[in-house]
Amino acid sequence: MKIAVLSRNPRLYSTRRLVEAGEQRGHQVVVIDTLRAYMNIASHKPQIHYRGRPLEGFDAVIPRIGASVTFYGCAVLRQFEMMGVFPLNESVAISRSRDKLRSLQLLSRKGIGLPVTGFAHSPDDIPDLIAMVGGAPLVIKLLEGTQGIGVVLCETQKAAESVIEAFMGMEQNIMVQEYIQEAGGADIRCFVVGEKVIAAMKRQAKPGEFRSNLHRGGTASLIKITPEERMTAIRAAKVMGLNVAGVDILRSNHGPLVMEVNSSPGLEGIETTTGKDVAGIIIEYLEKNAEHGLTRTRGK
Ligand code: ADP
Ligand code: GLU
Repeated sequence: MKIAVLSRNPRLYSTRRLVEAGEQRGHQVVVIDTLRAYMNIASHKPQIHYRGRPLEGFDAVIPRIGASVTFYGCAVLRQFEMMGVFPLNESVAISRSRDKLRSLQLLSRKGIGLPVTGFAHSPDDIPDLIAMVGGAPLVIKLLEGTQGIGVVLCETQKAAESVIEAFMGMEQNIMVQEYIQEAGGADIRCFVVGEKVIAAMKRQAKPGEFRSNLHRGGTASLIKITPEERMTAIRAAKVMGLNVAGVDILRSNHGPLVMEVNSSPGLEGIETTTGKDVAGIIIEYLEKNAEHGLTRTRGK
């Protein structure tokens, strides 16, 4: 196969591993800088150009689109889809997953366990919003945040009111969520590839911190997940329309709760922690599934 990896930086761990795993299996793998791909969308024959030449003959494309380039990255990926190139994850599913509220709404519609979450625009509705999610302690999240930045734990009603007011005053979109205390500062990252959880790790926040993000000093370890957690992760990825996803789960007293579904889950933490060849499993998925023109949405 000829495989394109859409990535801003060929030196990133995930990008390097995907290239390595593809080449090991005898494929040609080309890294394409997402922001340097340009397109002619006026013609009947969709094309992508790169460094002065049209990109041709690709069987599959692996999008590694960072949150900050979602808009342009999804447009490039959509163009690949219109050319019939099989995407590991489809552009529609990626843009869907980047909107945290939209994701939670879609997951809730399918009855997937979620922390009770509220969303409001007007400061007048703050008291009722807080009551709706069960009062303090509660978690407030900036919709645009990543890597745990913009996630705040408010222990009291007063603190919660002030933080929500401050964010609203700054015209930031936020959501308010029940705090799952019993998770003990840990979450579970389930790595889903094609309706299977192929690897899982537990991330534990450092002492005095509730956010388990590795970027916030959290540590990762091996974990055995329950059948219910496995089913939840697989269903969440499916609802989002993602073939490959990192599903983050909190262990609560009333079962697994999905916090987030990532469409470009990083490979470094999960491969190092579990010792699994996750990149190889992704390439195998493409070997079995990448057929020309076979996308669910064709970018629509
Ligand atoms: P980001 O997308 O920025 O990583 P998350 O929503 O994943 O933000 O939150 C960061 C971390 O904070 C999570 O990994 C989890 O450990 C913790 N956390 C988030 N929401 C809750 C919650 N409702 N209850 C308990 N812990 C939470
Ligand atoms: N930045 C990635 C995304 O928005 C998430 C990386 C991760 O934590 O897996 O999909």
